[in-house]
Amino acid sequence: MANLIDGKLISTQIKDELKEEAAQLKAKGIEGCLAVIQVGSDPASSVYVRNKKRACEYIGIRSLSYELPEETTEAELLELIGKLNADKSVNGILCQLPLPKHIDEDKIIDAIAPQKDVDGFSPQSVGAMVIGKPGFLPCTPAGVIQLLKRSNIDIEGKNCVVVGRSNIVGKPMAMLMLRENATVTVCHSRTKDLKAVCSQADILIVAIGKPLYIDSSYVKDGAVVIDVGIHRDENNKLCGDVNFDDVAPKASYITPVPGGVGPMTIAMLMSNCVESMKKSL
Ligand code: NAP
Repeated sequence: MANLIDGKLISTQIKDELKEEAAQLKAKGIEGCLAVIQVGSDPASSVYVRNKKRACEYIGIRSLSYELPEETTEAELLELIGKLNADKSVNGILCQLPLPKHIDEDKIIDAIAPQKDVDGFSPQSVGAMVIGKPGFLPCTPAGVIQLLKRSNIDIEGKNCVVVGRSNIVGKPMAMLMLRENATVTVCHSRTKDLKAVCSQADILIVAIGKPLYIDSSYVKDGAVVIDVGIHRDENNKLCGDVNFDDVAPKASYITPVPGGVGPMTIAMLMSNCVESMKKSL
């Protein structure tokens, strides 16, 4: 049976370290402030936003909340971001995605000043990550790297297969694994014989967005399996992209859902906020 990678425990350790750092920065007169923008009232987004604000409170960072109506125009949102970019007391800006259809998400992400882009989604942040320059890393993939490192799992030289190539998970995940010297293969919906490719992985990272898609027939004996997916099944229970019960006996390490990658995303957001505070030193 695989060892469980406990994302809840690891994320708490990280948040406790950050709390300490934030207190030290505060003692030097540097206050943290994250502006959290939500447009509309999508229930899942409201849960994420609430959890992010709670994490700020835990770490000791002020959070400013902007809950805007669904009808907010792109111009109004851009104006708010402009004001927050110029506000010296704000060191992080987060605009909860997805945005309503009448707002161009790329335009909004682009408008956030790179030095306040704590989600790590802006083209500048992504470019810096690709060429190995300092900048904010996207939170979910950065969280996966922390899970692996803090579980003492070697990455260097390992065959890593990332399933999924979205801009927020799959692509940056592949880049960060490459940065850690893994040999990386990226799979997507057009990949021929996904099973054969996944079966070669020492580390299999799954971000497909399809509940329980990966079973043990995709997994090499002793592989490390990281499940990024989050879904609710027919009984309203959380599950991932990986069929945990089927895969766990074959893997050496595995993340559960819930309690695996999920809690790491917010911990890494907090880490980016503290990094942003340090820039005012
Ligand atoms: P996404 O934008 O829908 O991307 C899914 C990717 O999977 C695409 O690249 C797609 O390929 C690929 N794919 C779909 N079906 C496939 C198949 N049958 N075989 C191989 N590849 C396939 O999803 P996402 O935003 O990356 O999110 C993925 C999952 O992670 C979702 O369940 C999401 O809820 C979860 N998530 C969790 C966190 C967290 O904090 N834990 C954060 C973000 C996302 P194409 O590019 O060819 O279409």
